[in-house]
Amino acid sequence: MMKSPASTAPSSWHRLRILFPTASLLILGFLLSGIAVSGEKEPVFSVSQVPGGEGESRDSWQQPEKVLDSIGVNQEDKPLPGVTHYDLRFNLLLKENRLEADALIKVKNDTLNSVSEIPFILYRLIDVLEATDDKGVPLSFSQTVIKFSEEKSFQVNLLSVRLKTLLSPGQTVAVRMKYAGALWGYPEVMAYVRDRVDETYSLLRPDSLAYPILARASFQSLMSAFRAGFAYRVEAEVPAGYVVACGGRLLETRKKVDSITFQFESIKPTWRIDVAAARFRVIEDERSRIRIYAIPEDEGEGRRILEATQKSFRFYSEAFGRVEDLPGFTIIEIPEGWGSQAGDYYVLQTAAAFRDKGRTSELYHEIAHSWNVRAKPAIQRCRYFDEAFASYFQGLAIREFDGEEAFLKYMARLRDRFVQSCEKDDKNGSTPISDYWKEERGENSYTKGAWSLFVLNQVVGEKGFLSLISGFLREFRAREADFADFQSFAEKSAGLNLDRYFKEWIFGAESSSLLREMAGAGQLAERYR
Ligand SMILES: [Zn+2]
Repeated sequence: MMKSPASTAPSSWHRLRILFPTASLLILGFLLSGIAVSGEKEPVFSVSQVPGGEGESRDSWQQPEKVLDSIGVNQEDKPLPGVTHYDLRFNLLLKENRLEADALIKVKNDTLNSVSEIPFILYRLIDVLEATDDKGVPLSFSQTVIKFSEEKSFQVNLLSVRLKTLLSPGQTVAVRMKYAGALWGYPEVMAYVRDRVDETYSLLRPDSLAYPILARASFQSLMSAFRAGFAYRVEAEVPAGYVVACGGRLLETRKKVDSITFQFESIKPTWRIDVAAARFRVIEDERSRIRIYAIPEDEGEGRRILEATQKSFRFYSEAFGRVEDLPGFTIIEIPEGWGSQAGDYYVLQTAAAFRDKGRTSELYHEIAHSWNVRAKPAIQRCRYFDEAFASYFQGLAIREFDGEEAFLKYMARLRDRFVQSCEKDDKNGSTPISDYWKEERGENSYTKGAWSLFVLNQVVGEKGFLSLISGFLREFRAREADFADFQSFAEKSAGLNLDRYFKEWIFGAESSSLLREMAGAGQLAERYR
């Protein structure tokens, strides 16, 4: 999810509510929400506002860095080393609204140049107290609160750590730092970032820079950092009576007289760490490892959501086969307005959506992501193999649980959204699905992408579709797929020549006018039989 884009519409299972003073912030929101907008709501994110898009946003996107005090001037284009592992220990002092932390960070230099200094950014009210290597030898560092070059209201603590020896290409180094301070989010920049340490609810996310991120103080640099995959181990100590939730796997809890420590580790390489603490009610199904963290007054909602999660797991397993290595699924309730987001096998879900029965189907979408194949990196940003599939699977789950009429209504809404996006920008219609990556048009995978699968389903029939999809999933869970792989697999599985279908729906854009002509899926499928 960067498994992820954003919106100002009501937050959905993985949508954000953000104030966007500039295009750059819009882009940041786009990336932070990890997974682009989905669900059934109006997408507010305009594709012209993401990297590589058109119009004025591109100008501001490509603006060069102006000032980079401690790490030199105009170095913005130089790639930086990346974090491969975080070992974070937080002490959440809820009463004092403060945190104390110890971070051991492994950094690998994947660039072509040797590096002597490493920049990190942290929340503006957090101070680094000490930096050492992993053996405790002190490292010299500087820290200054500075403004992001593209957005002056975005202020961060920029840290520059000087290494003992030059870090050559391919080498790894460990940096340990102790830091402490207050966390009050970034409401002045991104309305949903209300992360804090507090007795009512505490939340630590990359969005609030609650842990050190290896980047310079610019959006471009921050986004490159988010593209790197790392593993993590996180410990958080809270007063007795509190529960810590995290997207990772819970390893253990350790009790002291008046505090409790929770330890987690990442399930697979990821780009974000989310930690929440509250007097959560934990509702779980231990066998399928589904765990819901509900704020106390929503315990009942939590039970309903657990049931919805269980039944969608059952449905997808029966339809497409069991996912062998499925680690389970975690849903963490966050306060209203704090921005729903999704990571690998977990979601942060705002209270309003948690309580709204009408939005349960957004959960089917999130869970469907566990049944995704892996896309080849070159075409991953088409968002087809994740979002088109999850959006169509969401539809199939709606049909299973709520009936045909609800399903058709859902598909009609996706079509409407696609037609509207074409009205806003012609190129959404004229760009083939296989080219969406070129200008970040993956948003249309949620809508037209889902329709392409709907039509394919009609072409190959119900049984044919289930066996095609489950076979495709088996074949490409470990291996990476592209559109040519999908076509040859589909043709082999269905025993049909699907050339015209792929030409019109995937490699070409004739399908856009077909969709806009409002023909039904069955009628559309006639063309390809
Ligand atoms: Zn999705």
